[in-house]
Amino acid sequence: MTSLFAEGLIENNIDKLLKAPKSDLHNHSTKGCRLKWVEEKTGHSFPAPPESFDGLDGMQKWFTTYVKPYCSGYEGIVLRWEGSFAEAGRNNIRRLSMNFGTEEIEFVGGMAKFREMIEGFHMKHCPESVFEPELTYISSRDMASASDAIDEYVNTGFFKSIDVCGGENIQPFEAFIPLYRKAEQYGLTKIMHVGESGTADDVKRAVEVLGLDEVHHGIGAASSKDTMRFLSDNHIQLNVCPSSNVMLRYAKDYEHHPIKTLVENGVEVTINTDDLLIFNSSIENEYLKLYKAGALSVDQLDEIRLRGLNGKREQQGFIYG
Ligand SMILES: [Zn+2]
Repeated sequence: MTSLFAEGLIENNIDKLLKAPKSDLHNHSTKGCRLKWVEEKTGHSFPAPPESFDGLDGMQKWFTTYVKPYCSGYEGIVLRWEGSFAEAGRNNIRRLSMNFGTEEIEFVGGMAKFREMIEGFHMKHCPESVFEPELTYISSRDMASASDAIDEYVNTGFFKSIDVCGGENIQPFEAFIPLYRKAEQYGLTKIMHVGESGTADDVKRAVEVLGLDEVHHGIGAASSKDTMRFLSDNHIQLNVCPSSNVMLRYAKDYEHHPIKTLVENGVEVTINTDDLLIFNSSIENEYLKLYKAGALSVDQLDEIRLRGLNGKREQQGFIYG
């Protein structure tokens, strides 16, 4: 039996791909909406992003020059958050994990106000989606004080996972141990951005030192059979974002994207958007690009889609076809 999703890929049918249930588990909430959403709400027309950026700094510069001035401040951040949930509704994203920083939470008035607003957007735009909020910290932050102050954000049970993002090898992995220890006490799924620019060895070390359950990106692992076997044996899921990798030049193109090698070596991966507002490629398009480029087959992509929906986090026990 072919799924709606498989038909959508084979027929190049965007409508079927949009309707098929999907997940997005690596999504930076303030950049998780479409440019089109902001255009519709502000009346401003944005230029399409370039084919590639000059690293993370180049990406950030493009965003702060061309997009952010038109959706900044309190209203801008709220607009972008709402747009991220609207996209989940439009694209039938039935399992959604978005990450939020403590600075963003404080910016809108603290945990209680933040939570009420976010839950409101969830219920308004995609109430049938399983929503798993993620708390994220910038990798340059002082981790001792961050872990001391984490309780007020996680003791309500709102957040399901923890993440560190914003550049690799800024501090040694050991510096993050207090934060991940706290996260473990609260039963959070432990995730980190690693192996985007970093090496296979970085990915393995991060998992070993911090006891990670999942990795955001992790594509550097594709250069080492040893690391791929380690990830596969320990069922460490990599939440991969193809367009992000191609546009930031961490992957040559879609055809040769490391996800192909990872899948062929038994590593469990999911496909995600990272920053839709910047990379301008929504989730159905991420699958379609890999299929059209010949990187992965329909069956491989469908298996990845189902893993994203039925993933191991908390063993929710829901099954989608
Ligand atoms: Zn990311």
